[in-house]
Amino acid sequence: MRLVSYDDYRIGALTDQDSVVDLTGLLPDLPDEFRPMRMLLLIERWDALRPQAEALAASGGGVPLASVRLLAPVPAPRKVYAQPVNYRAHHEEMQNSPWSGTAPQVSSDQGMFLKASSAVSGPNDPILLPYADRVIHHESELVMVIGKGGSAIPVDDALGHVFGYACGLDMTVRGPEDRSKRKSFDTFAPTGACVVTADEVPDPQDLEINLWVNEELRQHAFTRDMIVDCKNQIANMSWVARMEPGDLVFTGTPEGVGPVAPGDLVTISISGVGELSARAQARE
Ligand code: MN
Repeated sequence: MRLVSYDDYRIGALTDQDSVVDLTGLLPDLPDEFRPMRMLLLIERWDALRPQAEALAASGGGVPLASVRLLAPVPAPRKVYAQPVNYRAHHEEMQNSPWSGTAPQVSSDQGMFLKASSAVSGPNDPILLPYADRVIHHESELVMVIGKGGSAIPVDDALGHVFGYACGLDMTVRGPEDRSKRKSFDTFAPTGACVVTADEVPDPQDLEINLWVNEELRQHAFTRDMIVDCKNQIANMSWVARMEPGDLVFTGTPEGVGPVAPGDLVTISISGVGELSARAQARE
């Protein structure tokens, strides 16, 4: 099933006819201020709610996708984990680039970092570029949405903790500061446009990623080339910081990162997962 958040944080299922079937009624009413957390509640209760959600989605109806305003599918995750330097070809391009002062270590040496969860944005939000005189890059990444939480999740159980997958952009200012600053600006974690539930993605290491800036193909890669695969990321990260339903994991970018300027349309597509576009603009 493909799930979206839209309008005033309603939750919907996307149908093959490009309509959105409202699932919000499956969840208890929340105070307005807590509506961004609605998707967390759906994920938490998914095993119990899934049959009803599937029946509603199959019953047809809904409204045209074009008539709603899509938000980030998980608008308010508690945590956003990310895997650094997780493709060898990206490691090589960074070693040979003017953007990184020192050659970065590969992923298996570096472990993980955290992006601010407030950086999450959706397909209708601009990517706000905070500097006019700094290099700001796109990083196309497969994003895992955690379903069942846990601490020190064993590798062999790890994929069972994934609720679903989405496209993500790990936007990054290049430079000497800590990653948590360079990657945590507001709108620096566009995700979506939907979350596809894990049952529809038989093998997260068998996906193709493409990223365009305007018409130019910049990144083209396969998730089988990750240095640390998805299940080991979950095991490693949850050993450090307990995972909770709805947490996002950015799984690392392949080669082909490059600069984004005001006006650019950045589009990422992942086979079997979906597509996300967001336009960059200068931050006021
Ligand atoms: Mn990244």
